[in-house]
Amino acid sequence: MIYDLLKKLVETNTVHDNETELALYLADYFKDNADKIELFGEGKRKNIIAYFGNLNSKNILLFSGHLDTVSALETDWNTDPFVLTKLDGLLYARGTADMKGGIVAAIFAILEAKKAGLLNDKLVIFVGSADEETGADSSLGCKKVVEHLINENIIPTGVIIPEPNAKKDHLKINLGHRGLIWLRCQSEGTVVHSGLLKKEDNAILKMSKFIEAVYSLFPKEPTKENGVPSSSCRVTYINSGTEQGFKRTPSNCVADLDIRISPLEKNENILAQVKAIAKKFEITINMIKNTPAASISKDEKIVKVITEALKESNISYELGYASPTCDAHWFIGYNIPAINGMGATGGNPHAANEYILFDSIEDRIKTFKKIIEKW
Ligand SMILES: [Zn+2]
Repeated sequence: MIYDLLKKLVETNTVHDNETELALYLADYFKDNADKIELFGEGKRKNIIAYFGNLNSKNILLFSGHLDTVSALETDWNTDPFVLTKLDGLLYARGTADMKGGIVAAIFAILEAKKAGLLNDKLVIFVGSADEETGADSSLGCKKVVEHLINENIIPTGVIIPEPNAKKDHLKINLGHRGLIWLRCQSEGTVVHSGLLKKEDNAILKMSKFIEAVYSLFPKEPTKENGVPSSSCRVTYINSGTEQGFKRTPSNCVADLDIRISPLEKNENILAQVKAIAKKFEITINMIKNTPAASISKDEKIVKVITEALKESNISYELGYASPTCDAHWFIGYNIPAINGMGATGGNPHAANEYILFDSIEDRIKTFKKIIEKW
């Protein structure tokens, strides 16, 4: 049963698209057990919200997972990325670890809790959302879900986003995640004969000084201090000149910067500093993406309930922060405490030969059920 649902989820291709097919499948899967089901969004990019338990309760725990995956270059894989394949005790397919395994665990935990009569005085919500894998800044997915819940005055008191967990027997509870700013930067210069004794107005030099100055805002090597990942910057692309050669200086230079913001920092602060440097070196910047960093206090109920449940089950854990971004900021932005992580355990998310340890799903079902029981 658990295997069958995982198989259906990963064998439905949701590479940056087509979440509606899975949302419809899950709506049918839930039809005998859910107390309310909503499907909404646009075209092939729909979200599902399924409600279980007491619809009038204000004691609301929500599990949220993104239904989309990144692409898979089939030639790099040892197996078909869209067929769940068992090999040496591991299950391979795109999306197994990130994060359809975690979604299966959440679903089974909720259904088992409902069957056991644990939801009479509380409401547990499952969200399967669209379009997270483009940088968690989409207006089609989790943003729509959270705004809908707020409009309906359904305010979760805790949220778990079961993104992959690196270790099988040691859970990482992320109190937040880094933010992300993508900047396309451009400098202008004057085209002149490069052999003349003229004062230089060089687009490449301006850009290189700008990049060095921006880099100086960040630690030389990204670090983790007390579990908190630092902010970081990477130049990922540069282009200048009209042709390769020596005769003339270029009219412009374009560079892309991928900046990641520490969970305890604010995107606006970093952005203001980068803008000041851009002004100094006459660089125009175009913001391509701006996903906020977000974090919650370890004193929130969601953290306390999870850690109590883990202690009672003798499961080791640590509190930390995720380096990549995720959907948690949509909830945290509305003061809804959300943690991410503690999903199923596997490897190679976003890479070739992504896999999952099947028994980690079974382990997480037990853990999530206990959390639901204590909620
Ligand atoms: Zn993910």
